[in-house]
Amino acid sequence: MKIGIPRAFLYYKYHVLWETFFEELGIDYIVSPETNKDIIKRGEAHAMDESCLSSKIFTGHVDYLIDKCDYIFIPRVATFGSHKETVCSKFQAIYDVINNIYREKNLKILYYSIDILNKDTELKAFLKMGKFLGKKKVQVLKAYYIAKQAEKTAKMIEINNQNNLLNSDKLKILVVSHPYNIYDEYIGKPILDILKELDCIPILGCVVDEKKAREKAKAISQTLPWTFNKDLVGSIAIYQDQVDGIILASSFPCGPDSLVNEMIIRRFKDKPIINLVLDGQEGTAGLETRLESFVDIIKIQKDEHKEATNG
Ligand code: SF4
Repeated sequence: MKIGIPRAFLYYKYHVLWETFFEELGIDYIVSPETNKDIIKRGEAHAMDESCLSSKIFTGHVDYLIDKCDYIFIPRVATFGSHKETVCSKFQAIYDVINNIYREKNLKILYYSIDILNKDTELKAFLKMGKFLGKKKVQVLKAYYIAKQAEKTAKMIEINNQNNLLNSDKLKILVVSHPYNIYDEYIGKPILDILKELDCIPILGCVVDEKKAREKAKAISQTLPWTFNKDLVGSIAIYQDQVDGIILASSFPCGPDSLVNEMIIRRFKDKPIINLVLDGQEGTAGLETRLESFVDIIKIQKDEHKEATNG
């Protein structure tokens, strides 16, 4: 049996957990390739027109995997535990949406759902999945705990590496974007490449201690409902004093991000902020120009500040 994992959406947040779990159970899997033009086209052809670009990209990856594996892994996440919190409806609906898009193909889906408020915990999701894959409970538990440890270690290394970058004398720009956008080869990576070409260090908002970030986010807004956006808002509170500017990068047309980004711009007035909307169009010329002028403005402001403080 071979499982196909779409390289999109929550893959970027949980791939160490999922991949280690499957490996520990000896389950064969393939991950769809980095997003490319063909995957974008597949997504646009099958997803609903009004879907956000990230959702279209997910559909494109699912489309790529059809006929290349026995089951496609479609993770559904609805709630993380608090009545005051939720995730974007796309993550709650993804299983039904994909099922519906490919209803004529009778797609075989490996189901995984987390909805803490309805007592569907992460552990329960893995136990159900392990049972479906024909594994004994004891094997599944062992694989799950090993995968959790691997996830924890990977996260710690990622945060430590980023903390080391914060000590650099170069210009540091905080990029606030969901991992499935900023790590995506086609839509997010060009931002990081351009920043590096401009001799800046990108600091990622999604590389953060989530517990601390959610705590910090509470002080900024008590009413923010989306868990993943809370992590990003909290990351600004954590990193703001160590960076020179902030980039907000969202996919088009993202409802949660457009509301949250407005709030961020109003609340964090001490740093230069630029808001980028990623639409998946080809070419990076426009992006390069915007980032170049943003970095130039930061440099000028820094020089002026230095002159003023030196008298
Ligand atoms: S948060 Fe925005 S980008 Fe992410 S799935 Fe929802 S609408 Fe799409």
